[in-house]
Amino acid sequence: MPAFTTRFAPAPTGYLHLGHVVNAIWVWGMARAHDGRVLLRIEDHDRGRCRPEYEQAILDDLDWLGFVPDGAQTAAFRAGAHPQRQSDNTERYVARLAELESQGIAYSCTCSRSDIARAHDARPEDPRRESPDAEQTGEELRYPGVCRTRALDPALTLARRVRVEPNIVEHFDDQRLGPQSQDPDVQCGDFLARDRHGNFTYQFCVVVDDLDQGVDFIIRGEDLLDSTGRQLRLARTLGRETPPRFLHHPLIRHPDGRKLSKSAGDTGVRELRTAGMSAAAVIGRAAALAGIGSDGAPVAANDLARLFVQQL
Ligand code: GLU
Ligand code: ZN
Repeated sequence: MPAFTTRFAPAPTGYLHLGHVVNAIWVWGMARAHDGRVLLRIEDHDRGRCRPEYEQAILDDLDWLGFVPDGAQTAAFRAGAHPQRQSDNTERYVARLAELESQGIAYSCTCSRSDIARAHDARPEDPRRESPDAEQTGEELRYPGVCRTRALDPALTLARRVRVEPNIVEHFDDQRLGPQSQDPDVQCGDFLARDRHGNFTYQFCVVVDDLDQGVDFIIRGEDLLDSTGRQLRLARTLGRETPPRFLHHPLIRHPDGRKLSKSAGDTGVRELRTAGMSAAAVIGRAAALAGIGSDGAPVAANDLARLFVQQL
């Protein structure tokens, strides 16, 4: 029995960059240092932004870098449909959402983004939280619950929200940051499980997948810290008995403080490879930029455990 199951879960909306490499270093480093298992999952829930050629490139880059998943390896994804590719999993998301709808926990919502902004303008006392993961969630403002009691005809829209009850604080002990408390009702309110285009959302897919795939240790960047409370809540609603553990790691930033973006040519794995860097040199550079190890010396993917024995 592995001590834990974690996952590396890139979204094929672009090429791998040093930010992904940092996440892979944490995921594989922790797993190899502490007897864990790493699943690869392709998070292509957003059909509008994901492209098959990006997935191919990600698989190629992982192979080149030497990050080898346990269980299904990159060849299994190249071979065709796979349960760890979200777009091949739609029936499971449909079934879970139907369960929530039949329990009155999920409901139809016809609000546009500007409707939500107007509802906020009308109630300036409401918290107007900007979600740091808006890129993932597509939501910038707390949803004020407009459609909650409207009992809309489900045929009017594909959009479905999950009810978030008020005054319940989610507590968890981040393995790096320590005790955390989040109140999803204050942070985001009822959140989308499926958008009006019919795409299941990041928040929904990730919770269903982590539950179904037995992921019990989630290792990811600090930019997703604010999503954790709502994900714990949804997991419990879906019947998860033991919550997963979480570790949120630091991100690398440009020297001027900006978050590393996928468009940054200087950080693309492909660019660095074409420029003649070895895989170990790319991993070493990412590790140094993220404060793992120190000197930026090359380090092979299968030699990361020694950098993580002190963690946990
Ligand atoms: N697919 C997400 C990303 O590319 C990772 C999701 C997660 O770790 O929860 O950032
Ligand atoms: Zn609505």
